[in-house]
Amino acid sequence: LLQFAILDAVSVNQEATFRSLLSRHNYHVTKARLVVFRILQSPEPLSIREIIDKSKEQIDRVSVYRAIDLFEKLGVIHKIYIGWKDKIELSDTFLDHHHHLSCTNCGKIVKIQDEKHIDSFIDSIVKEHGFVAVQHRFEVDGVCPTCQKNK
Ligand SMILES: [Zn+2]
Ligand SMILES: [Zn+2]
Repeated sequence: LLQFAILDAVSVNQEATFRSLLSRHNYHVTKARLVVFRILQSPEPLSIREIIDKSKEQIDRVSVYRAIDLFEKLGVIHKIYIGWKDKIELSDTFLDHHHHLSCTNCGKIVKIQDEKHIDSFIDSIVKEHGFVAVQHRFEVDGVCPTCQKNK
């Protein structure tokens, strides 16, 4: 029960951040935008097909595509590129910063949170070149253990 309460507080917080981000850019929180955002609060990254599927009782697919385009422009989402199986998740504004290992065969995605190694390595390269980083991406495409066995 306690865990439920914590999860709920997180999603309420995320929604408040979402609302203020949209209004800061002079966009209204329409029904379609809110529906898509709530679906994206899933613990796993989702494909556009999965988002359309989960929202089809409430909004049409064109509204989903429009919302996703806007979310990308405003930095609400982060796209994980794995060919035709591209997945979408909320950006670092909403989730803790992390990286991914993606299986190009089945689309499985593994989250990696490793500030000690990956992020400090990236930070040192950035400093070495005198840059101030705004954001960084570090993604690995490959074949997961299950798909390696099934080959
Ligand atoms: Zn796989
Ligand atoms: Zn990082």
